[in-house]
Order: sequence, then structure tokens, then C-alpha cells
Amino acid sequence: MNYSHQQRDSSTISLPVGKVVCIGQNYQDHIAEMQSKTAAEPLFFIKPATALCPLAPAFAIPAGRGAVHNELEIAVLIGKSLTQALPEQVAEAIWGYSLALDLTLRDVQANLKQLGRPWEIAKGFDGACPVAGFVPAADIAHPQQLDFSLTVNGSRRQQGNSANMIRGISQLISEMSHHFTLLAGDIVLTGTPAGVGPLHKGDELQLQLADYFTVTTRVS
Ligand code: ZN
Repeated sequence: MNYSHQQRDSSTISLPVGKVVCIGQNYQDHIAEMQSKTAAEPLFFIKPATALCPLAPAFAIPAGRGAVHNELEIAVLIGKSLTQALPEQVAEAIWGYSLALDLTLRDVQANLKQLGRPWEIAKGFDGACPVAGFVPAADIAHPQQLDFSLTVNGSRRQQGNSANMIRGISQLISEMSHHFTLLAGDIVLTGTPAGVGPLHKGDELQLQLADYFTVTTRVS
């Protein structure tokens, strides 16, 4: 596995590489585009550490398995372990923030949904979670008011703001920690806004996190 947590300047963050804990539906506009119903119980799932890979300068997608969709999400790097944490205990355990793609084999997932089966093979495959470098939490004044966007081949495909999360970051991570202990080096993905769609080999992508960074990459 060719991945270690990095800062924006490519320096390595000395935390182990752990699991990725994700929420399936955390923005109303994405729930609408998927024609899903809003449920009271959150939809959590895990990508294994082997899903992690560097976002740039390029990342690969599986071939021959149907549509591979982008889901642009704010990623949170956990710096201290959290078990059954209260929302007010979460902030001090956050190392920093970045952007990640929750790559999804959409046709495989649709088939699994129809069969009532779990999603792992649609979302947990090797390379299913390209991640950019992290910005330390201390440098981000308002993590719950972050604009972020994805441009594919020059056209804007996804645009979100963390203010529109159904579950805010502290609440989300608190709830996750009641199901799964989060360890230092784990990553939390906070859900995708609308605009998911198929990626193709050769696509050029730009990911922007507010004024903190813009990353250019491509599908190899
Ligand atoms: Zn997602």
C-alpha cells in the first residue's frame, strides 16, 4: 500500500494508516439525486486501510466493473482515539481536515442494494479512497462553514458547504464512535453533496477546499 497521511506540503504525518469510517447520506441534495429516503438512523460503513491511496498526481479506477462514481467529501483525520465520545469531546481529537473521493462502483452497488446485501465490494476495493494532504485543525477557523468543489475536465460537477451537513462533524464523529472506536490515524468521511457521476480514464480533476488548497489530479 503506497499511502501515508501527508500534510499539504507533502510532509508525512506521523500517525498510522487506519480504517476509513463513512456516512452514506449526510446532504439532502445527494439523498434527493439518489431518490433515497431520509432515515432517522444514520447509514455508516467502513472502507479498509487498503482502500487509501494518494489523490495526486493521479489515481486509478477499476476497469470492467461498470460505472465508477466520484463522491467528493470532507475528510477528517483522527489524532486521538475516541470511544463513545460526546460531541464536545470530538474537536480535540481531530488532527486536521482534507478532501477525499469516496469512489463507488455504482452499478455493483445498485445490484447489491437490490439483493439487500452489504456494500463492501462497491466501496471498499483497493484504491477506493484517494485522499489529499491534510490541513491541521488549528489552521481551520470554521470547519462547519467550508466550501468545497470538484471540477471534472473543466466543468464544475460538485459543490458543497459543510454547513449543509445533516449531521455536523462533531455530532457525526460522536455517533460513529458509539459503533466503532476511532483510533489515531483513522479517517472519517463526512458524506457527499449532489453531483455524483461517472469517472473515466484520462479525466482531469480539480478539487478545492475553501481558500486552503486546490489539487489537480487525473484518472490514470
Ligand atoms: Zn460517500
